[in-house]
Amino acid sequence: MFTVSCEELVKENFYCPHCGGWVYCPEMNLKYKTEDGKIIEKIATGCLQQDEKGNYLECPGCKTRFYLTD
Ligand SMILES: [Zn+2]
Repeated sequence: MFTVSCEELVKENFYCPHCGGWVYCPEMNLKYKTEDGKIIEKIATGCLQQDEKGNYLECPGCKTRFYLTD
């Protein structure tokens, strides 16, 4: 089972280590503004899929699943 951390995903492009396919880029992040004007970025939940093991991103090339960790 492969995992990827949310912290890395929000900051950097993520490419599949197996086939090199592009899986996620920070431009897809959801941005929230807090009350003191700070911008918080989170993984776009629309990109995530879910199974019994948790939330994951799927490589469009080789269909490898990358489960999200905090
Ligand atoms: Zn792949």
